[in-house]
Amino acid sequence: MSEDKQLATLMASVFDDETGAVTPPIVQTSLFAFENYQAFEDRMAGRTNKSIYTRVQNPTVAAFEALMADAEGGEAAVGFASGIAAISSTLLAFVKPGCRIACVEHVYPDTYKFMEQMLRPFGVDVTYHSAAELEEQDDLLAGVDIVYLESPSSVVFVPVNLPRVTEHAKRHGALSMIDNSWATPVFQRPLALGVDIVIHSASKYISGHSDTVAGVVVSSQEHITRIRDLTLPLLGAKLAPFEAFLLTRGLRTLHARMMQHHATANTFVDRLATLPQVRKVNSPGANEVPGLTGRSGLMSVEFDDSVDIPKFSDALTHFRLGVSWGGFESLILPARVGLAQAGPKNSMQTFGVSPNLVRLNLGLEDTEDLWADFQNALSKSAA
Ligand SMILES: *Cc1c(COP(=O)(O)O)cnc(C)c1O
Repeated sequence: MSEDKQLATLMASVFDDETGAVTPPIVQTSLFAFENYQAFEDRMAGRTNKSIYTRVQNPTVAAFEALMADAEGGEAAVGFASGIAAISSTLLAFVKPGCRIACVEHVYPDTYKFMEQMLRPFGVDVTYHSAAELEEQDDLLAGVDIVYLESPSSVVFVPVNLPRVTEHAKRHGALSMIDNSWATPVFQRPLALGVDIVIHSASKYISGHSDTVAGVVVSSQEHITRIRDLTLPLLGAKLAPFEAFLLTRGLRTLHARMMQHHATANTFVDRLATLPQVRKVNSPGANEVPGLTGRSGLMSVEFDDSVDIPKFSDALTHFRLGVSWGGFESLILPARVGLAQAGPKNSMQTFGVSPNLVRLNLGLEDTEDLWADFQNALSKSAA
């Protein structure tokens, strides 16, 4: 982020292509032709930087990537077709057989499956650690090549002290990566806290409208070039121009939306603490760890045994049942649904979460309407 501009101002800056258009056009083409032989050869040799083919470069995608790099304070960014494509393409650009990854526990379920089902069979050793172990055990990262973080983690939302863990990582020469989808650059800018690579599922808050599946990675020019040279072109999970257009549109209002999520979440956290049926609220807030400046709308609540969770879920009217989050609409995901998932073991099944836990995505509806809905459902949910 430019030092003289706040993030809201930066995200609202007009796109300037000299036509006066304030938003980038959707350049819906696969191919970019060259005016003559020399221009073609110059581009292939890397002497110029014009788009060649949309699998690797497209102006609409580049406009989103530039805004995202600014938002996270990185030198460069690269978009992907999904958050998990951003995660897998980033990890695959840096792993080799025999290398070691130290991963935070309760990592996003499909990230866990990628580590276990795809990286481990190719000879990558992955170990899982709590935030406290990563922070406190000075030598935990000795011999580790990559530290993979989420702060906070998925489902149980345990935040990580990033300056402390990245200090250990640097001392041991490990590359650090973080999934920053929960906090967004509005509430946490990991590159400034020592993390090497920031990854987002842009399907969540960056899109903000539950109409796009996408991902993005922000880092130094060197790391982004490595991803652009290897896994972007060779696995081909590129971001499409129309999706990039929607994501730029999402970034325009990201700051305003996050402020509203923060306000609703703070109200919920205060009031949930007063309910006798609530055992625990998992929702890290401002300053709970260094560099975290706000509370997003995604949290989890553990009830006591007096609450029948299926009854509670079905009694809600504003909260819909579903897996994603970060959009305008409020959602509930009961942990027992994740625990019941078929197929290879997910991280909830491996690391264990209480079946009395429900994840809430607080959307952009009126705070009091949401609270009334929550209370009403609770009153109808006695086990
Ligand atoms: C949803 C999610 C992902 C995966 O993103 P997709 O865009 O669905 O591929 C990764 N990390 C976290 C924390 C998520 O919630």
